[in-house]
Amino acid sequence: MTKTIRVAHLYGDLMNTYGDIGNILSLRYYAKQIGVEVTSNVVSLEEDFNADDYDFMVFGGGQDFEQTIVSKDIQTKKDEIKRFIEQGKPVIAICGGFQLLGNYYVAANGKKLPGIGALDHYTDAMKDNRFIGNIEIQNEQTKEKYHGFENHAGVTYLGPSERALGKVIKGHGNNGKDGTEGAIYKNTVCTYFHGPILARNGNLAKRMMFHALEKKYPETDFTSEKPKVKVDSF
Ligand code: GLN
Repeated sequence: MTKTIRVAHLYGDLMNTYGDIGNILSLRYYAKQIGVEVTSNVVSLEEDFNADDYDFMVFGGGQDFEQTIVSKDIQTKKDEIKRFIEQGKPVIAICGGFQLLGNYYVAANGKKLPGIGALDHYTDAMKDNRFIGNIEIQNEQTKEKYHGFENHAGVTYLGPSERALGKVIKGHGNNGKDGTEGAIYKNTVCTYFHGPILARNGNLAKRMMFHALEKKYPETDFTSEKPKVKVDSF
């Protein structure tokens, strides 16, 4: 039987800055090489999210207007999103999505939008400034370098239970001060990278794909599949 990764594209109709949807296309591209099917479903306003229905989550970025709407609605999905994350299923959350998985986001107009506190960070607003441009980071564990494009006014500070996705080599990252970019908690990866991140950083895409597969099919040994998608290092 064909193996499948079911993607929940959280608020895909509202939170999709700079083609964050490309993360799903990348996942599908790599999955196809090993005969795995990727299905995706937008889960948006006033719709139920059931953690058991999905194996992977993509939560893209958005403008403050969309984030204000999503900040309210996401409270109704909070428990199931937390359950999904705590189970160790992979999540890629970008920019506005990253901010709303944390405790709160202060928008450019000074309004504090509640997040869901699934991860321990918080995001304040910069005054009359945005971090815009190409960014490069290095992950401490794998030593891989990741490339992307950042555009945000929010400055994020990580909590004690999460670690950075990478150390900033070029660009600004979470807050322009502490040299961190993004966050990792269990198999949840948060980042300010548009681009989209999984299209520009194949190794990260492949690693997250195998996390999803190993979680869903614990009886299957995927070792022989890994060379087929040429993961450079694990
Ligand atoms: N509105 C948020 C900020 O400016 C997120 C932006 C984005 O998702 N690109 O920080």
